[in-house]
Amino acid sequence: MEKVYVIGIGLIGGSMALDIKKLHPQTTIYGIDSSVSHLDEALELNIVDEKASIKDVSNADLVLLSVPVDASLQIIDEVLNNISDTTLVIDVGSTKQIFCEAINNHPNRRNLLATHPISGTEHSGPKAAINNLFKNKTNIICEVEKTAFKLQEKALKLFNDLGMRIRYMNPEAHDKHIAYVSHLSHISSFMLGKTVIDKERNERDIFDMAGSGFESTVRLAKSSPEMWTPIFKQNKDNVLETLEEYIANLNQFKTLMEQDDFEAIYNEMKDTNYIKQILKGIE
Ligand code: NAP
Repeated sequence: MEKVYVIGIGLIGGSMALDIKKLHPQTTIYGIDSSVSHLDEALELNIVDEKASIKDVSNADLVLLSVPVDASLQIIDEVLNNISDTTLVIDVGSTKQIFCEAINNHPNRRNLLATHPISGTEHSGPKAAINNLFKNKTNIICEVEKTAFKLQEKALKLFNDLGMRIRYMNPEAHDKHIAYVSHLSHISSFMLGKTVIDKERNERDIFDMAGSGFESTVRLAKSSPEMWTPIFKQNKDNVLETLEEYIANLNQFKTLMEQDDFEAIYNEMKDTNYIKQILKGIE
């Protein structure tokens, strides 16, 4: 891969650029971003070699589309209109159904691979980019059959070099499952943070008492609203379903507390300890 264009040089695009440069030092990484300060930072941090614009992607061997999911919808046509026959475009957006529907009839659909690397942190922008972010993580690939076979092979080689495991899924199943394991966790963390901040305004001491349990549970509440609002918008129906189930569980817990049914509360927690086995399986 000689010419790699990264559109959205933040956490995901920047981290992938760092790994690609390490694997293939002769590659030139071009950065495209709506934020001038992010582009300057990416140059300073040696994440990109040069600045570029979408019109330049006709030269690209690989284009990484790593902007927020609403921006992806706005620019994907221009990207696909400008590439050459042999360019591979990899999209890494966190929602897949609306995006895959939007590109379905584009004449260059075969140049694009729709993916979702299940790896990230609560930080954003080029400063958040790190080496090995994708190592031992899962990459979900949607509608693989719609991508030209040679370009599939090229992408799989890259993911293998980055140390990723591959799972294939249709976009509908992806959005449904990811609503539970990712989107609900973020909402729950944001609302836990809000609940404590609202209280803290009156009771200063609460943060002096906050331990590592609070910190780890509320970590995702540091995530970027610019990235998460369009995700919730695009996956609204699935997210609403998860929220209904979550709120029902919270209400049931509250009812058990009101009824002094601590045996039932003990059993709820004991049953939920099963999460240890599940998490052990994916470590
Ligand atoms: P990020 O760190 O905020 O980087 C996104 C970059 O794209 C920012 O520099 C942003 O600039 C820029 N941008 C926004 N609109 C643009 C446009 N129209 N044209 C060009 N650049 C634009 O975000 P990220 O965490 O890397 O996420 C990127 C994508 O990966 C998203 O689709 C996200 O759903 C997906 N993803 C994220 C994670 C995660 O954990 N973070 C994991 C897997 C997949 P501004 O900041 O000025 O808007």
